[in-house]
Amino acid sequence: MGAQGECPEVVRMDPDLAEADEVIQDKCGVVGVAAKSSAAPLLYYGLHALQHRGQESGGISVFDGSGTRTHKAMGLVDGIFGPDVLDALKGNVGIGHVRYATTGGSFLENAQPVVVEGQRGTLALAHNGDVVNSAALREDLKSKGWAFLTTNDTEVAVRMLANELAQTENVPRAIRSVMRHLTGSYCFVILLGEKVYAVRDPLAIKPLCYGELRNGQGWVVASESTALNILDARLVRDVMPGEILELSAEGVKSYPAAGSGEVAHCMFEYVYFARADSVIDQRPVHDVRTKIGELLGKEAPADADVVIPVPDSGRTHALGYSKATGIPFAEGLMKNRYVHRTFIMPSQQARDMGVRMKLNPVQAVVSGRRVVLVDDSIVRGTTMRRIVAMLREAGAAEVHVRIGSPPIKSPCYLGIDMNTRTQLVAANHTVDEIARMIGADSLAYISLDGLQTAIAHEPRNLCTGCLTGIYPVDIPGEATRKTSQATLF
Ligand code: SF4
Repeated sequence: MGAQGECPEVVRMDPDLAEADEVIQDKCGVVGVAAKSSAAPLLYYGLHALQHRGQESGGISVFDGSGTRTHKAMGLVDGIFGPDVLDALKGNVGIGHVRYATTGGSFLENAQPVVVEGQRGTLALAHNGDVVNSAALREDLKSKGWAFLTTNDTEVAVRMLANELAQTENVPRAIRSVMRHLTGSYCFVILLGEKVYAVRDPLAIKPLCYGELRNGQGWVVASESTALNILDARLVRDVMPGEILELSAEGVKSYPAAGSGEVAHCMFEYVYFARADSVIDQRPVHDVRTKIGELLGKEAPADADVVIPVPDSGRTHALGYSKATGIPFAEGLMKNRYVHRTFIMPSQQARDMGVRMKLNPVQAVVSGRRVVLVDDSIVRGTTMRRIVAMLREAGAAEVHVRIGSPPIKSPCYLGIDMNTRTQLVAANHTVDEIARMIGADSLAYISLDGLQTAIAHEPRNLCTGCLTGIYPVDIPGEATRKTSQATLF
């Protein structure tokens, strides 16, 4: 969700490091389970594995055979779902969501799943992505007398689905009918009675996969395969572009879309968003990041003594860079994992202190050395400037910054709260200017070709909108590549 501040994702480094002026968020994670035992603990552990995709709120809906129960709250999964809460969520099928708030507000009413009562009973829906035409859809529906409780796109989708379900018994047909109206990125998990439906947009922009629990105990669908791993489930495959899956304790039914064959996987899932232990669209994220680092090392070597990552986001890239260049890798920045990311930093001085609280240089590693500092991306550049200054204060002789994505020059409308070019330092400055701004001796980004080689999907099958300004779906005022989602069903 996200067009109205629902659930975009974080572009940038580790959210724990994101400063008040660097935060560009948001991400969400979804899980669905149809099992032969209680779903709530499985959903809990699945959401736990997806906590990196959203830390503001979480929710679980389960069906107990006669009704649907939902528990949603602000905070981390651990804090939201204690043993008593999970015990009360009875039932073997359910869905879950973790959310990272944006400008739309970190409020409980925006937490998911969104639940509505329809003619077919209770319908619960959780969403990762951004339906870019949701405002237009809402206005159109309002003009027909519909009322909405929120401004988020998830509510638009769930109400449209409830309306379709009032007109047909065929649930996949109703979902397909809603999909025909939606433009953008969306992965839905939907709970209706004893079934869970999983839906991926026709361009498969955001990740979604499903797997089988051990010993025939049921099925699970999740944003990332790491959630399947924690449940000891076997990854079956990614949900295909435009596909609808129907999960029940008995099995999984597929309702494929007649797609064009062209997709637009978000390249940033590989660069930063997803966990390195996930496999997304058949690409192990760890391998992609290592390859990015290797190619970055070949494209932009540095005369230096040590390669250090910005933890944790730059670690795998830095390992690849070290491997390709032969420059030794070392942990030169220590991260304090216990600084809460919502720590309020009202003044510049407090913000500088905030970075120091989260990161501290290892003097023994950096003092007197020429350092290559590797991270996944630069958004505003403010945090990178502070880190470079910190390394110099710790005695680094030189600091060469290497970045595992090309410069981010354009907004993301497809699931990340990165709405304006003014937020993006690379939109308005050359690489040399940015190097001076962050105080680096040199700065280099991986090339777009290098990134596409590392991800190893056909370039036409990746979304690179925030790098190129050319988007896979129609976005007013922006350039669009030829594929139109409307032609995909
Ligand atoms: S514009 Fe595309 S590639 Fe960039 S973050 Fe958004 S979805 Fe991902």
